[in-house]
Amino acid sequence: RPDLYVVPTPIGNLLDITLRAIEVLKSVDLILAEDTRTTGKLLKHLEIQRPFQSYHIFNEHKTVERLIERMLRGEQMALVSDAGTPAISDPGFLLVRAAREADLIVNCLPGPTAFVPALVNSALPNDRFTFEGFLPHKKGRKTRIEGLKEESRTMVFYESPHRLMKTLEQFKEAFGEDRIVCVSRELTKVFEENIRGTLQEVITYYTEHPIKGEIVITLAGK
Ligand code: SAM
Repeated sequence: RPDLYVVPTPIGNLLDITLRAIEVLKSVDLILAEDTRTTGKLLKHLEIQRPFQSYHIFNEHKTVERLIERMLRGEQMALVSDAGTPAISDPGFLLVRAAREADLIVNCLPGPTAFVPALVNSALPNDRFTFEGFLPHKKGRKTRIEGLKEESRTMVFYESPHRLMKTLEQFKEAFGEDRIVCVSRELTKVFEENIRGTLQEVITYYTEHPIKGEIVITLAGK
């Protein structure tokens, strides 16, 4: 019997939740949420009435110890984030590691996460790829990008809309304007788009079109 479930939730389309995720959320003693407002809405939509509390990055270290103690005493918990799979560019890693170290049973359910549909939609080779998550905003950003110059695998990045152009320009400088890239925006939502082309083509496209919503960048390897 798992002590801690890691439960993926939709990244846009509310239908993207598995039957098992619903069953688990209905059965646990406590749901740990990244943001209680977001999770509150989801639970209401699913008509689930279970206790939930915040498990936020800013109190993660402090919270972990107390939660582990409660699980050791027999409480079963589910961890969710605002969207997608917890611990993937989201809080959760510390709790999962601490649970394992305490010999608790952790069970991550398969489910929504943004990088998989972005990678597949990009039509770039996906037999091998590297997940780069968010680039550092300032310190170490350039070094990180430069360090990928020789990378031959397809690379997947999470990015915010207001930094997209800066990132594409920096990619152009590091990888050359002809490198193929795909920008996946608003995956699973009404205005989903996957724009693929050379870095120069995609930069041109986004100088002419508004950049809004959530974004994954998939970049071809060398
Ligand atoms: N845990 C999430 C997952 O499993 O994908 C990722 C959380 S991270 C804080 C949020 C980032 O994921 C966004 O900035 C964006 O890069 C990506 N993302 C999440 N939902 C998305 C969507 N519907 N379309 C495109 N990108 C998305």
